[in-house]
This record gives sequence, structure tokens and C-alpha cells, in this order.
Amino acid sequence: MTVREALRETAERLRRAGVPEPEVDARLMLAHLLGESPLAMALNGERPLAEGTRAAYARMTARREAREPLQYVTGEAGFMGLELRVTPDVLCPRPDTELLCEEALRALPQGGGRALDIGTGSGAIALALAKRSGARVTAVDVSEAALAVARENARRVGAGVRFLQGDLFSPVAGERFDVIVSNPPYIADGEWNALMPEVRREPKLALLGGEDGLDFYRRICAEAARHLSPGGALLLEIGYDQKDAVEALLARHIGAPFARRDYGGNWRVAGARLGEEAHA
Ligand code: SAM
Ligand code: GLN
Repeated sequence: MTVREALRETAERLRRAGVPEPEVDARLMLAHLLGESPLAMALNGERPLAEGTRAAYARMTARREAREPLQYVTGEAGFMGLELRVTPDVLCPRPDTELLCEEALRALPQGGGRALDIGTGSGAIALALAKRSGARVTAVDVSEAALAVARENARRVGAGVRFLQGDLFSPVAGERFDVIVSNPPYIADGEWNALMPEVRREPKLALLGGEDGLDFYRRICAEAARHLSPGGALLLEIGYDQKDAVEALLARHIGAPFARRDYGGNWRVAGARLGEEAHA
């Protein structure tokens, strides 16, 4: 069987399983196995596949057919130009979250300052901040299994981040930061069954934010003021319909809130600086 034939067969299997972009995923999985770019692979599509490669590709195809996220199947996800390792212990970093990182990079003081990432998962946000700024970065997660993946990613990308296990701010008692950033779990518990099959393969611990999805915003906003330097910024990823609720929490606990839309036009980031009063 040639590369081209294998791609066609796999794309067809993925299509029948309801995978949204079957050709793309078929290409990305085989390119990953061959260690080539999808373009380089396609340029030489008539070569035969080695038996071992065929068998490995069949195993990957079966996992993707069962609607495991592509990133779990390849074990890799790109984020802010970094190649990160991901496992079912961590959320697959989303392109949408790059907006939160960009806002955090803008909010950091000249020379770096101190940044805190609450709920770091794969380490995506913390590692991007460490690589792209001079900031000293601390990252917290309640999941020891997620932190193991994040630490491995820090070695992989060559970034120095302090990783701490615990509930929200408990591991950083008494410490203050110039920027606190979080992409917390924010899906309402009752929405679980309506999520894409791929998302339901990700940890519930990473996604569910209580009855109305806002539990973590309530806790983070209430506790963050004690951990922000004067003028420090709290920046939060939000769901498309959570802007008003999260802005109200920010206004109450931190300062005048603001929000940013993602490239799809949805509200995606809400934030505030400590001590900046709202205008009337
Ligand atoms: N920051 C990563 C990203 O953006 O790709 C992962 C975000 S994921 C939506 C939320 C993360 O919060 C998960 O890694 C989860 O383990 C962590 N988490 C859940 N409850 C927590 C808690 N009480 N304290 C600290 N982290 C928590
Ligand atoms: N954006 C994610 C999703 O829709 C949710 C991430 C989160 O809860 N922080 O799957």
C-alpha cells in the first residue's frame, strides 16, 4: 500500500466516524509517524509504506475513529509556536487561548516582572510567557498528573517555570504577582453531554466550572486582589456568553474591567487592573 492509498483509506474511515476534517487528520497522523511535514509527505505519495508504519497508522486511525482528540493520538499540540506534549491528563491547548497569552505579554512590566498561571494544564500559557518575556513565571495546578506533563514540556522547550501543586492560590500564600492569568474550567456542568465527543475525552477537572460554569471566576476574582502587585493585572479566558458575569466579578473585586474578542468575534478574554476605578 502506498502513502496516497493509505491516506485515502484512513480519510474514508474517519469520515464514516463523523470526524470533522478527515483528510486533514489523516495527513497529520501519517506525517507525524513518518517524521515529515505533510507537504513533503504528499510530494512523494507513491512510495510504499513499511509494514511497521502501516500497523502503527492503523492503530492511530482506530483511536481517532473512536473520537480521541488528534492531539492525544499524536501526543503533540502546537501553542504560541511551541511544540508541546499532551496526554489525556491535560486539556489540549486551544488556539483561542493564544489571545490570553498575548494580553498577558502586553500587561507584563518592562524587564519581565512576576507572572502566575492558575490551572496550567500542559503548561502552555506559563511556558509561552516564560519563553517570550523576561518574566519569572509560577504555574499552579491541582492535578499532579497534569503537572508532570507541564514539567516535561518545560524541559522540552527549555523554559524555566516554577510549578506548584495545589488548589488555586493556596501554593502561593503571601506572594504577589504583576500578572495573574488563568484559563479556568468554565463549562456549565449540564452542558457536558452536548460537547463534541473529542472534548468529552478531556479531563472533566479541566473543563467543568459548576452549575453555571462560573465557580472558578468567583473564587479567582475574590482571592486575586491579595496576590496582585499594585496596578497588577488579572486576565481570564472566558466563554462567549460569560463577559457580563465575569466583568461584574472583576469590577467588584479588582478594578475597572475590560474584555477582548477572539478572531472568531467571540468575547474570549476579560481582565482588570488592581485599583483602577471604573469610570462612573
Ligand atoms: N492552562 C491550560 C490551557 O489553557 O491549555 C489548561 C487549562 S484547563 C481549561 C484548566 C486547568 O485547571 C486544568 O489543568 C485543571 O487541572 C486545573 N484546575 C482545576 N481545578 C483546579 C483548582 N482547584 N486549582 C488549580 N487548578 C485547577
Ligand atoms: N474552550 C474550551 C472548550 O470549549 C473550554 C475550556 C475551558 O473550560 N477553560 O472546549
